[in-house]
Amino acid sequence: MRKGVVVSLVLFGAIAAAGVLAGRVDLHPSPAAAAAHIKVYSAEKGGYVMSDEVVKSKGEWKRTLTAEQYHVLREKGTERPFTNKYADNHEHGVYRCAGCGLDLFRSEEKYDSGTGWPSFSAPIAKENVETVLDKSFFTTRTEVLCRRCGGHLGHVFDDGPKPTGLRYCMNSAALKFVPSK
Ligand code: FE
Repeated sequence: MRKGVVVSLVLFGAIAAAGVLAGRVDLHPSPAAAAAHIKVYSAEKGGYVMSDEVVKSKGEWKRTLTAEQYHVLREKGTERPFTNKYADNHEHGVYRCAGCGLDLFRSEEKYDSGTGWPSFSAPIAKENVETVLDKSFFTTRTEVLCRRCGGHLGHVFDDGPKPTGLRYCMNSAALKFVPSK
């Protein structure tokens, strides 16, 4: 390898490292072109629609979300029970993703679980959420994510009411409630 090339590479590496350290370079740049076209349910349309996955850099999310929303949605945080916004909400309407606005849950499936977090027996449509195994905190749980932006919503447990037997235990900070007109 020529000396000039080696010097350039070392220089480039140093500049990139400095950028990362300064928080200016996103280690996982997410080009919008990579966003997949997905089929999701729309409450407004009353049926399925095609939509693009929402892909944003860490910096973009930080600018558009509050500190609490960012912590829950992008850092998989858990808010405190009982004192959160929707645990005790009994109004009729739809709960959307606070990150991308995708419809996630309906008041019809919301029930009082006594946990202090908004709980639902089912999502608005199975296509609108994604579940993955979460082995953090020395236990195995099933994490629930928004299908469109990948935001962390909460976890789903199998001690819910019939007929699904499921309890979608969500963070209010990950949701935005839109009352029915
Ligand atoms: Fe979302």
